[in-house]
Amino acid sequence: MITHPVPPADGPVRERLDTRVSTIGTDTTIRRALPHRARRLVGAWCFLDHAGPVDFAADRGLHVGAHPHIGLQTFTWMIAGEVMHRDSLGNAQVITPGQVNLMTAGRGIAHSEDSVHDGGHLHTAQLWIALPEAERQRAPAFRNYPDLPRLQQDGFALTVLVGTAQGQTSPVEVFSPLLGLNVQSTEAARSQLALQPHFEHAVLVLRGSAVVDGERLEPGTLLYLGTQRSTLDLATDGACELLLIGGEPLNEAVLIWWNFVGRSQAEIAQARQDWLDRSPRFGTVEPGSLGPDLVPPSLDGVQLRS
Ligand code: MN
Repeated sequence: MITHPVPPADGPVRERLDTRVSTIGTDTTIRRALPHRARRLVGAWCFLDHAGPVDFAADRGLHVGAHPHIGLQTFTWMIAGEVMHRDSLGNAQVITPGQVNLMTAGRGIAHSEDSVHDGGHLHTAQLWIALPEAERQRAPAFRNYPDLPRLQQDGFALTVLVGTAQGQTSPVEVFSPLLGLNVQSTEAARSQLALQPHFEHAVLVLRGSAVVDGERLEPGTLLYLGTQRSTLDLATDGACELLLIGGEPLNEAVLIWWNFVGRSQAEIAQARQDWLDRSPRFGTVEPGSLGPDLVPPSLDGVQLRS
C-alpha cells in the first residue's frame, strides 16, 4: 500500500468516501473505510474496518492468525459477539459487547484474534491509531476497558470510546488528542453534538441510516467532515448506530504497509524481515490461533511514499 500525504481540510466539508470490501483472517468479509485514496488519516486514526453484523455458518468464525504490528495502537470496539485476543506479552482476553480492547504495538508486538464460538454473531469495528513520533518506539502494552462513559442526549445513547464528550472522558489511553464516540438510537431522534473546532472528524454508520449534517448516510460510506466545526447535526428516522471519530490533525508523514505504521521504507522492511525471522522483537503468541500465522507480501519493487 502506498500512502500519499493528504492534508486535512482547512474547514468544514462533506466528502463521501466509499468503503471497500476486503477479507480478514480465514474468510471474514469486512468493509474498509480507512485508509482511503482520498483520505489517509482522521486525526491519528489511520485504519478503520467495519465487520458485520454477520451470522457465521456453524463451523465458521473470525480467525485472524498471529501477526505483528509496529508504530500503532489497535482499537477494537465490540458491538455484538465475543472475540478472544491473545498476544506475545501473554495476554489472553475475551472482548464482549460494550467493551474496548486497546493494544499498543509501540516498537513491536504480535497478536491473534479468534471468535470464542464458531457459528455465532459478530458486529465490530477495528481501528488503528498512528503513534506520534515521540511515542512510537514505546514498549508494547495491552488493556481491556470494560466500562466506558455512557450518556443520553435527545434520544441518542452516547458511549465515549476515546477522548471527551459532554464533559465525560474515556479512560482509554491514547497519545494524541483524539475522539471516538458511539451514537445509538432505538427510534427517531434529532440532536446536535458539540465538536472541537481544531479537530477533523468523520462519521461511519454501523447500522440503520442517519442524516449527518444534512447528508443521508448508511453503512458502506465514510463521511469526512473536515475541521472548524463546533457542532454536528444528527437525525434519524429509526434505530441506528454510528461511529464518530475525530482528532487533532497529525502533521507527520505516516507510512502504512501491511500491519505496520512507520516513517521510512527501511524501517518497514526491517519489521517485515524481523517477523519472517521470528525475531524476539515480536515474540510468539501462545497458544496459536485457529488461523495460520500471517505472511507479509513481498516488498520487491515496491516504493513506499508518505
Ligand atoms: Mn492486528
